[in-house]
Amino acid sequence: GMGSEVAWLLEAVDFAARKHKEQRRKDPEGTPYINHPIAVARILAHEAGVTDLVVLQVTPCPACPALPGPRTALPEPRTAPRAPPPQAALLHDTLEDTATTPAELEARFGAAVRRVVEEVTDDKRLPKAERKRLQIERAPACSRRAKLVKLADKLHNLRDLNRCTPQGWSEERVQEYFRWAARVVAGLRGTSAALEGALQRLFEERGVPT
Ligand code: NDP
Ligand code: ZN
Repeated sequence: GMGSEVAWLLEAVDFAARKHKEQRRKDPEGTPYINHPIAVARILAHEAGVTDLVVLQVTPCPACPALPGPRTALPEPRTAPRAPPPQAALLHDTLEDTATTPAELEARFGAAVRRVVEEVTDDKRLPKAERKRLQIERAPACSRRAKLVKLADKLHNLRDLNRCTPQGWSEERVQEYFRWAARVVAGLRGTSAALEGALQRLFEERGVPT
């Protein structure tokens, strides 16, 4: 029911906030990092129409009567769900940027959330240029849920770059980030007209080919 959806959402917000608590964004104000995953989840809800908070079945958790779950590992639904679990958006940078493990995500939020977060996580053992190349190459094969999170993630990062330039970044570096993002987004087409339209306008404003 509605009550448990809200409880789950808060569980993910609280988990992500604690994991990212020492981190800051790259903008000159050093905005707390958690603002970004929250903004990505908000973009999904407000601009992509992703309002379905819980798309997976939950089982009651005996240890915690207020919360359902942890979610059991369910087989993938036969038809692609419209919405990703919003937890995936809130948690999308926990594997990449904090000490969180996939097992920890699965135990708390279930296998589906863990899978989506893994799909949007770069392998930090690889050199940066290789990670960037792999994002372009692997975007088309991502699940619909991961594509939605990736679109909202890129949209928020590009809006952040338009709002203000990170410390130490030249205009050319910002422009290069837009060009790279356009190549990733090209592999995410057919996922959300609203998000793709918003991204398209940002690329056009910069004269970036799409
Ligand atoms: P980075 O990957 O270093 O930085 C961008 C990432 O930082 C985003 O994807 C986002 O990731 C995170 N982030 C944190 N704060 C912000 C913010 N305020 N606004 C936007 N994103 C933020 O950038 P790149 O290395 O890709 O730089 C862009 C281009 O410039 C590259 O193509 C590179 O070749 C070139 N370049 C790179 C230099 C370098 O030293 N690396 C130097 C000169 C040019 P998340 O969603 O995970 O938070
Ligand atoms: Zn992100």
